[in-house]
Amino acid sequence: MKAHHAEVMQMNDRLPNATSRTDLRLERMNWPQIADALNAGISTVIVPCGAVEQHGPHLPLFVDAEHGTILAIEVALRLGNALVAPTIRVGCSEHHMAFPGTISLRETTFRAVCHDYCASLTRHGFKYICLLPAHGGNFKPLANMVNELNASVAPVCQIAAFTDLMSVMAVWKRVVQRQNGHGDRVGGHADIAESSLMLYLHPDLVHEEAAAAGYLPELTDAVINRIISDGLKSVTKNGILGDARGMSAEIGAECIAALADLMAEYFAAAQPEQH
Ligand SMILES: [Zn+2]
Repeated sequence: MKAHHAEVMQMNDRLPNATSRTDLRLERMNWPQIADALNAGISTVIVPCGAVEQHGPHLPLFVDAEHGTILAIEVALRLGNALVAPTIRVGCSEHHMAFPGTISLRETTFRAVCHDYCASLTRHGFKYICLLPAHGGNFKPLANMVNELNASVAPVCQIAAFTDLMSVMAVWKRVVQRQNGHGDRVGGHADIAESSLMLYLHPDLVHEEAAAAGYLPELTDAVINRIISDGLKSVTKNGILGDARGMSAEIGAECIAALADLMAEYFAAAQPEQH
């Protein structure tokens, strides 16, 4: 077994396109690299939970999936002993279904996927799983399931979920306000912050000329409940919450860094004691 392992490692070293050993994404590593990481005590894994849903007339559908992946890598770098699981690209997006293209998981499906991710990762020896939502519609389902998930992997593994959606909005508002004074344009969906993220990550897929204002008033509980029960289109015809105008790649880069700081701090504090 050991000899075989060493042989695979050597063979891998000779491959011209061998996966970079600094890449933290599980799906881009091979099994010996993952075995080595686990043996070296890298026992934390981040699971990004994204969405593939409408993001206004100017952004592609994969905003939250791409954002989740980059955020998870940044959080893993900050934690230092973590890898990144494959992003759950599709999430709970029922409230966006009135717009063409959106794919949505039922909450029961999303819960089942999270269960199976956590069960698989636990079997491989990860001891701490961090569920990282990059889509507003995933926060509540994650909060609803985290206790059950924890019970299913205890005592060998522990699971934490970041579920404070309002703190994400606060970070975006702070960054945008400091960068160009338009903090009031952060509305939480396809707004100046999310548009800036895409301008930073995938500028070729951003139609800046179509950026516009959407629903602008404060998101009260009543409005959020209406969005959940009647769909986003009942409050915004173009699918934007906030205002997309004024975006910049600099805002996008800073939003990612600031949010990664916040989430890494949360996951570090929620981490089980290392023995
Ligand atoms: Zn989004």
